Amino acid sequence: MTDKSFDNNEILSEQKKYAERVRTLLLSKAAFLERKPMVYITTFGCQQNEADSERLLGQAVFMGYEKTDAPENADLIIYNTCAVREHAELRALSRTGQLKALKKQNPELIIGLWGCMVSQDHRMNDVKISYPYVDFVAGTNMLHRLCEIVCDVMESKRRRYYVTDEQALTVEGVPVVRSDEFKAYVSIMYGCNNFCTYCVVPHVRGRERSREKDAILAEIRELVDSGYREITLLGQNVNSYKASDGTGFCEILQDICKIDGDFIVRFMTSHPKDASNELIDIIAQNKKIARHFHLPVQSGSSRILSLMNRKYTAEHYLALAKRIKEKVPDISLTTDIIVGFPGETEEDFEKTLEMVKAVGYDSIYSFIFSPRKGTPAAGMEDPVSYEEKTERMARLLALQTDISEANNKKLVGKVVCGICESKEKNAAGYLVARCSDNKIVFFENDEKENIYYGKNVNIKITRATPAQLYGQIVK
Ligand code: SAH
Ligand code: SF4
Repeated sequence: MTDKSFDNNEILSEQKKYAERVRTLLLSKAAFLERKPMVYITTFGCQQNEADSERLLGQAVFMGYEKTDAPENADLIIYNTCAVREHAELRALSRTGQLKALKKQNPELIIGLWGCMVSQDHRMNDVKISYPYVDFVAGTNMLHRLCEIVCDVMESKRRRYYVTDEQALTVEGVPVVRSDEFKAYVSIMYGCNNFCTYCVVPHVRGRERSREKDAILAEIRELVDSGYREITLLGQNVNSYKASDGTGFCEILQDICKIDGDFIVRFMTSHPKDASNELIDIIAQNKKIARHFHLPVQSGSSRILSLMNRKYTAEHYLALAKRIKEKVPDISLTTDIIVGFPGETEEDFEKTLEMVKAVGYDSIYSFIFSPRKGTPAAGMEDPVSYEEKTERMARLLALQTDISEANNKKLVGKVVCGICESKEKNAAGYLVARCSDNKIVFFENDEKENIYYGKNVNIKITRATPAQLYGQIVK
């Protein structure tokens, strides 16, 4: 559902006024500092967070900050945090701890924690109590309000907490500074309604909201016109996109493919329950859509899938994966797997191994279950030890390494096409290209200059390892 009950332009002009107030304050500071004020942003977690950080940077630049990669030079530091697993939270908290020294050196420094981790009450309280040098905390639903928040902190000279249960608005036209010159993220929907029992995302990102079709198409047209070659549509459940006029994911994907220009479109992440036959046909018929389908399975055991509230069985998933491969033979399938969900038996785990073998994924992202506060799975009985889970994970990874290697070896001798992603050769002398199926190929370049950056390259594969392909350019 979309929310039309707000005036988009009014919100933008309000934020513009806050930005002007910050700009005035920064100008007086700049004279004192004898340099431009700087912003440093670090992103933890998924592509959605990366995309959000591009909007945070856009707003910071709009206020008059310049981007820096050196936190010690910054006047505004924002950590855009993740809450999906405990490890990501602990990393963000430990990095936040290191900011204490910077704040001591520069008491004018503004430090903000943003996003998923601090959208949880208990984490916000941790920050309130244990990290007194953090100036503001803001939830995911505040994405369009950075100017207001920074203005508030500067003018009040007090700590501010912008964390509410309010549903986020899908505000269009928020300034953006993209991190890449030819690859762009385009969020098309936000939030999640699925409530998988292990997952914190619906709790920290709220219910599903989709952007309007025209705004999405206009953004992509502009990107393609200005030279972007790869558009990645983002959403926690990208394929449950539904605009207020009824446009669904299949329709928007087809409309995007009709845009003139030499580009490819990727999308992630898809929920298997919404991967329809129509969607598979559209991928098959349309070369502008990347030959890559990331389809998280989570487990190969229907019993565990039911405890996870995934809304499909292992049999259904396998049939779906087979259908995709049959209709789009050159597609690369990848997945997410959780190892050691509460109560996962050896037999359940073996079913996951069987699934991995039967599908033959090109790569997998696997995670040991991490209990998330407030989710049902965190309260489920979990008799399997961490050591046992680690051992299962090692078995899974060993199996996947063999499968990835076998899949990659099939490409030796073939010519693949990719877009060159590197500006310079790496330490071993290679440039890197990413193919439509999302595989990375390292290739040699005998030209003096790198003339390939952002361009299509045809590469003959000469060597394959489980994770890498190597080849020579075919002119
Ligand atoms: N919306 C996407 C991504 C969700 S988070 C989806 O539905 O697939 C990315 C991945 O993190 C998930 O697919 C899952 O494999 C993993 N994950 C989520 N919560 C987790 C938890 N509590 N412990 C371990 N892994 C988790
Ligand atoms: Fe989390 Fe499940 Fe929603 Fe994905 S579909 S974000 S795993 S609740």
